[in-house]
Amino acid sequence: MKADRVIGVDLGGTKILAGVVDRAGRVHETVEEPTVTNSQAALLDQLADVVRSLPREGVGAVGFGIPSRIDHRTGIALGAVNIPLQDVLFRDEMEGRLELPVGFENDASCAAYAEFRHGAGQGVQNLVMLTLGTGVGGGVIATGNLFRAWTELGHMVIVEDGAPCAGACSGRGHVEAYCSGRAADKLAQNVIGPRATAHDLVRDRNPAVAQIGHHLGVAMGSLVNIFGAERIVIGGGFGVAAFDQLLPSARLAVLTEALAPAGQELEIECAKLGASAGLIGAGLVAFEALA
Ligand SMILES: [Zn+2]
Repeated sequence: MKADRVIGVDLGGTKILAGVVDRAGRVHETVEEPTVTNSQAALLDQLADVVRSLPREGVGAVGFGIPSRIDHRTGIALGAVNIPLQDVLFRDEMEGRLELPVGFENDASCAAYAEFRHGAGQGVQNLVMLTLGTGVGGGVIATGNLFRAWTELGHMVIVEDGAPCAGACSGRGHVEAYCSGRAADKLAQNVIGPRATAHDLVRDRNPAVAQIGHHLGVAMGSLVNIFGAERIVIGGGFGVAAFDQLLPSARLAVLTEALAPAGQELEIECAKLGASAGLIGAGLVAFEALA
């Protein structure tokens, strides 16, 4: 019998959002819990408990979107920045606990996949999504399929020997150092005052947001040149809030950096699925684990 439902789980640094997802991408029952961060074993147990708390009827598989690089040959989650996951055989651990097929993918890739199938990415075959939140995540759809590689687009160099990245990244001049919510906080402190945040920058429609848009456009130009993206979707808390203020300078930079005619033809859209994108994408990954 073919299952018509799965459970999708979006694992974030502060909360876990899980829900029952059907084949049309509709979300049914959901549950939300603060993320347990004391140990890896406790976190894996919590993920299993969250799944068990949802109705199991018609559910054929479970998908997880996790903030980690993933080695798909081995099924190992290599490491996450804010939560205790390190070199763990994630699929085996979860299948052992849940006795259901398990799929998993990077959280930003899940969001990209969800927007492609059910949101702002519908109707094109080559899509890039950038999520501008605390950090910057990315996902790629190539010729209609999720590109299941690292796609750490936030750690693409846009300024040689530029500003240092935060956290576990030793690199300099990465997209994340210029276009994340954290980078916008820093910019706000420079142009408004020591207590200002990205929120103030966006609320005041401060012209300095255009600097971030320029960096974003430089990144997008390269992504168009590499992946032939027809559309780029901008998501994440900061990305959605600042979208219309980022767009003009981003568009100008794309026209300079992307090879013609791709730069002129590129569509830039704001994400549509909001906080559900990761959960829906995890559900799509679960349906693939079923097949
Ligand atoms: Zn970096």
